[in-house]
Amino acid sequence: MATVGKVIKCKAAVAWEANKPLVIEEIEVDVPHANEIRIKIIATGVCHTDLYHLFEGKHKDGFPVVLGHEGAGIVESVGPGVTEFQPGDKVIPLFISQCGECRFCQSPKTNQCVKGWANDSHDVMSPKETRFTCKGQKVLQFLGTSTFSQYTVVNQIAVAKIDPSAPLDTVCLLGCGVCTGFGAAVNTAKVEPGSTCAVFGLGAVGLAAVMGCHSAGAKRIIAVDLNPDKFEKAKVFGATDFVNPNDHSEPISQVLSEMTNGGVDFSLECVGNVGVMRNALESCVKGWGVSVLVGWTDLHDVATRPIQLIAGRTWTGSLFGGFKGKDGVPKMVKAYLDKKVKLDEFITHRMPLESVNDSIDLMKNGKCIRTVLSLE
Ligand code: NAD
Ligand code: ZN
Repeated sequence: MATVGKVIKCKAAVAWEANKPLVIEEIEVDVPHANEIRIKIIATGVCHTDLYHLFEGKHKDGFPVVLGHEGAGIVESVGPGVTEFQPGDKVIPLFISQCGECRFCQSPKTNQCVKGWANDSHDVMSPKETRFTCKGQKVLQFLGTSTFSQYTVVNQIAVAKIDPSAPLDTVCLLGCGVCTGFGAAVNTAKVEPGSTCAVFGLGAVGLAAVMGCHSAGAKRIIAVDLNPDKFEKAKVFGATDFVNPNDHSEPISQVLSEMTNGGVDFSLECVGNVGVMRNALESCVKGWGVSVLVGWTDLHDVATRPIQLIAGRTWTGSLFGGFKGKDGVPKMVKAYLDKKVKLDEFITHRMPLESVNDSIDLMKNGKCIRTVLSLE
C-alpha cells in the first residue's frame, strides 16, 4: 500500500483544551514502531468517558488530545516484531491491554494487565508517548486508542482481531460501552438466574448491563434513570420495572427496598456519580447483595456507613466489564453475529466525524444512546 512505511496525514478531531469544542484538523500519524500496529479507523462510538475527560476530569496535562476509544478498523501496516496481525485484518483497539504474561493476565480473576499505559498515567488518561502530531505539537492518544482519528497507532497487546465478516460500524460498540455494561453484570456481579437486579443510569453502559442481567436469567430488572425517555429502550433490553428518582421524595434505596422486600440481589452503577454509587450499594439486600461500580469518576471519594458492608453487602467495581480484551472482544463479536447479544438497538444516531461536536451535545443533553461516527 502507498502509505506503508510513511507518516500518514489524515483527519482527526483534536481537543486542544478542556471545555471547548473539538476541532477537525489534519494530523500526522507516525509509522508503527516495534510491536505496534497502525489502524485505519472505520467507525467509532462516542462514550461518556470521552465527555468526562473533556468536561469533568479536565486534567491540565491531558490536552491536546484526540479522544475516542470505542472504535473498529482495519490494519494498515505493522511495525517490527508484530506476527499476530497483518494488513487487512479487522480489529478493535483496546483501552486495557492483554499482554498475556504479567501476573494479572495470568490470573483468570482480572483484566488489569500491568503492561498497559494506565499503570503510569492514570490521571491524564493518556500514555505519555504518542504517535500523533498536529501543527508541530505533540497530541496525546486518549486511553491509548484515539479513535476520533482516521488512523491511529496501538501496541499489539492492546488490539483484538475480530471476525472478518463483522460490520465495523456496529461492532465498534464492543470496544467499550457494550462490553463494559454486559461484562459488569455477567463477569463481575455474576448475576444469578432468578435474581432481582437494579441498574442505575441507562446510557449504553447501563442498557448493556440490563442486557447482561437479562441474559444471566435475572427475573426482575429495575431500571433507574432521571431521564424517563430512557425507559422505553430499557424495556427492549429486558428491564421489567422503571424508577425515576425524581418521582419519589424518599431516598431511592428505600424505594427499591420497599419494591423488593428488603433490597435487590445485584445493583450496577452506570452513571459515574459517587452519590448514586452509595445509593446503588444501599439498595442491595443485606447478607448477600453485590453492588458494582461501573460509572467512571475520579474526582470525589465514595462513602457509606460501615454497617452497610458489615451486614454482608459486597462493594466492587468493573473496568471494561472484566473482559480480557484479546480473548473477550472477539467472543462478543461472535455473540453479536450469532444474534446472542444486541448491538444495533444501542445506535440512535450516525454521522460523519465532522459532526463530532453534535454527537457530544446529543449525549450531554440525554438525546442519544450511542452515536456512531463514520471516519471514511
Ligand atoms: P450516558 O451519559 O449515555 O448515560 C448516563 C445515564 O445516567 C443517562 O441516561 C443519565 O440520564 C443517567 N443519570 C444521570 N444522573 C443520574 C442519577 N442521579 N440517577 C440515575 N441516572 C442518572 O453514559 P454512558 O456512555 O452510558 O457511560 C456511563 C458511565 O460509565 C460513565 O460514567 C462512563 O464514564 C462510564 N464508563 C465506565 C467504563 C468502565 O470501564 N468502568 C467504561 C465506559 C464507560
Ligand atoms: Zn467508554
